[in-house]
Amino acid sequence: MESQTLWIDGRPVAASGGLFPTEDPSTGGTLAELGRGTAADIDAAVQSATRAQALWARTDPNEKARILWKVGEAIMANLEELARLEAMDCGKPVANAALIDIPRTADTFFYFSGWATKLHGETIPVRGPFFTYTTRDPLGVIGAITPWNFPILLAARKIAPALCCGNAIVVKPPEEASLSTLALARVATEAGLPAGLLNVVTGLGEEAGAALVAHPGVAKIAFTGGTDTGKLIMRNAAATLKRITLELGGKSPNIILADADVKAAAAAAVSAAFYNQGELCTSGSRLVVERKVLDEVVDIVGQGARALVVGSPLDRATQVGPLVSAAHKARVESYVARGLAEGAERVAGGEHPGPGYFVPPTVFRGVTTEMTIAREEIVGPGLSVLSFDDLDACARVANATEFGLAAGSWTRDIGKAHHLAARIHAGTVWINTYNRFDAAAPYGGVKQSGFGRENGRAVLDEYTEGKTVWVGI
Ligand code: NAD
Repeated sequence: MESQTLWIDGRPVAASGGLFPTEDPSTGGTLAELGRGTAADIDAAVQSATRAQALWARTDPNEKARILWKVGEAIMANLEELARLEAMDCGKPVANAALIDIPRTADTFFYFSGWATKLHGETIPVRGPFFTYTTRDPLGVIGAITPWNFPILLAARKIAPALCCGNAIVVKPPEEASLSTLALARVATEAGLPAGLLNVVTGLGEEAGAALVAHPGVAKIAFTGGTDTGKLIMRNAAATLKRITLELGGKSPNIILADADVKAAAAAAVSAAFYNQGELCTSGSRLVVERKVLDEVVDIVGQGARALVVGSPLDRATQVGPLVSAAHKARVESYVARGLAEGAERVAGGEHPGPGYFVPPTVFRGVTTEMTIAREEIVGPGLSVLSFDDLDACARVANATEFGLAAGSWTRDIGKAHHLAARIHAGTVWINTYNRFDAAAPYGGVKQSGFGRENGRAVLDEYTEGKTVWVGI
């Protein structure tokens, strides 16, 4: 694959820091050379965005809506190319990318196209001879920083609402998987998005990412990634008093009560844990099972994990592809070793001969809340099974984590379902389902999983500033 450029001011631009390689997860070779964006490139992108935003803020909302809709259509028209790129670059099964990542990316533009014409303020009855109203103004230039597990979709969750609210955006995609974000910028420009509204500066986190966070011309950072990086960004954003939203890690409990449809719940637990190789922030990585049905659940989950088709991301039959990088594979394997060393029993998993960064779906039973694999985020195909005897213990085990991104519960008892939904500290709770997302449904974390919401009406507040106007009458 040829060398890549940055995307600034509606066209490809060579990075001033030269190039750096991005790995091919399937072979361990080099997939592409990416531009190594520097602070100078970030500055050029922010200047382009600032110019474009001044015009965009005054653009008729109907025109904004039309353009965002066109971008969604262009994404669908390029579905196969985008799905292939995402699969090759991340290692994710192409069938999933074509069914979920790319259509949901388009959906995000369709959904926020609708909001462009519906952003209005209020009139406020105040004391005295005044007519007082509020408006919702764009923030200006947004900086978006994204991770490698769903790069195009997570970029779209920032780009579409930012543009709908009249902002421009500079995206710093992940160094491991930047190709789809670059392709998205090209596709959006070809669809009619004015130059400068969407800029992409690839590069290293501590270089291009840090420069974006530090830039005084950027009003807000929308970040998705690891909790430690999120904390660093929060500290660095303080210097210029930027707004931030942080979508961070998770260690989500997926609970099965004995009165559930146990076969359906256990089968769903396999995809909750291993969808996208488990490289999913909301992965149901802690399966919390009522002891009465523990053996039955472990049998089904163990068999289900062993039956998953591990293979090339470009093979349509593949269900579990390689992990994104050599470093990440080593990290996941170190968690597997930790699990064994701390006394958990492995009921599925093992070695993969390679080449490529494959780790077979791994299931541990006999896990306790103190073990490392129950506490730390693996972001890979590692599932910990824990157990409980009553609802109080269930809530205690489910909440025994510093994260609070999502949770699931499976039960036929509606009272118990609502009881648990109220007691679990998480931004999203799924009942008798798991890993459901929609551009219309707000999504985000609590505790160490971050703050701020993406998707839905809730996100519009994150990309607009309220202004109050008083008129003497
Ligand atoms: P990461 O934190 O290492 O990197 C994320 C992004 O931050 C990358 O683009 C990286 O270049 C950039 N970055 C790194 N250092 C930076 C710095 N000093 N300043 C500015 N930017 C910097 O995360 P990752 O390994 O790419 O992604 C995996 C993590 O993302 C997991 O923790 C996962 O749970 C989380 N995640 C969360 C969500 C969510 O919605 N909550 C979704 C997907 C992934």
